[in-house]
Amino acid sequence: MAVSLYIHIPYCVQKCGYCDFNSYAGSRPDEQEGYVRALLREMERWAGRPELAGQPVPTLFVGGGTPTMLEGRHLAAVIAGARRLFAVAPGAEVTTEANPGTIDFEGDKLKLAYEAGANRISFGVQARQPHLLERLGRIHTPDQVEKAVAAARAAGFSNINLDLMYGLPGQTPAEFRETVDWALGLGPTHISAYSLIVEEGTPFYVDYDAGRLPLPPEEAEEEMFAEGKAMLEAAGFEHYEVSNFARPGHRSRHNQVYWRNEPYLGLGCGAHSFLELAAPLPNLGAPRPRLTASRVQGGAAVETAPGEPGQKYRFWNLKTPTAYRGAVERSDWPVEAGEVIDRPGEMAETMMLGLRLLEGVSEERFLNRFGATLDQVYGPKIEQLIVHNLLERADGHLRLTYRGLRLGNQVWQEFLQD
Ligand code: SF4
Repeated sequence: MAVSLYIHIPYCVQKCGYCDFNSYAGSRPDEQEGYVRALLREMERWAGRPELAGQPVPTLFVGGGTPTMLEGRHLAAVIAGARRLFAVAPGAEVTTEANPGTIDFEGDKLKLAYEAGANRISFGVQARQPHLLERLGRIHTPDQVEKAVAAARAAGFSNINLDLMYGLPGQTPAEFRETVDWALGLGPTHISAYSLIVEEGTPFYVDYDAGRLPLPPEEAEEEMFAEGKAMLEAAGFEHYEVSNFARPGHRSRHNQVYWRNEPYLGLGCGAHSFLELAAPLPNLGAPRPRLTASRVQGGAAVETAPGEPGQKYRFWNLKTPTAYRGAVERSDWPVEAGEVIDRPGEMAETMMLGLRLLEGVSEERFLNRFGATLDQVYGPKIEQLIVHNLLERADGHLRLTYRGLRLGNQVWQEFLQD
């Protein structure tokens, strides 16, 4: 069975005010070196396990954090190491994330990454206006974005994503239009447009709580989404996921693995995995109380031990780089905890994730995967969501309507397990 790979690089120059990702400001060269060594050791251990040995790897994604915080030789070693140790398929999509403020324009960082096998690059751009970039705590300028995209092209990358944001404090619809227009002018193959979510525990949350975060009114945010979508579609981009647009043939294959609820292995600190274990995984913590380690088969409860083979798990690695490195260096598995995903749980997740895609959930794929039709499992729920104009059926798929697209959370919640 194909398994995709995610590799986490936890370092950033500084923390952005809205960011709740597992990333840390600053890193010394020896820390980076030790972290990359630990990543390669973790890869080696997984490469020997049956879930990965010989299994095709269709996509590989180096994310963060900021992978381009690493020296070029380290970033290249991570990508080349994964390609050497795993059966990365010919033609696999190999992406690295990049921050335009960490590119050595005259140097060879991007060239080394490309030569090591990366064939797609994803830049965090967010906005064109310097005052918005500053408010977000971004380290780069618009000028650096332009130079970074040119440097990526010169290094060999032709598959380029730009991440944009809307609904930012003080942002107007005209500014978002200007950002989209400018981004299109840079000639990317893919654009992600995320609305700002104010996450608890971030400086933005503190500001929001204190009334110091002037978010645009709902109608202005709605206008940004609608106009951004119209501009991107007019430029030939397909809107294929709630926040993602691609030129034909350039949808993110890696992210589609997540949205289709297919298996992947996460490497590095805090990285999450979704995998059926073929052999016990020591150190996999006890399942969390919400999902117990027992499942019902033909009416009989079957008890399973943590890490038992034949079960699908979501599990995650130790969060901090120090804890993660410590475990790997002691030859322990760096797994912190995990939970069994039983069949109802997997069906619910398949719906929640799949309905993020504009094509929706394929009725046939659902039947082949679970041996039951969507209606057999969710009939009344689906009926109700169709009546409320949140879902519709088309081309053998169940998908969001335009209204559902704007009220996605309401729809996804419906499929949460009781
Ligand atoms: S660069 Fe990305 S990962 Fe790093 S702090 Fe900013 S948003 Fe977070």
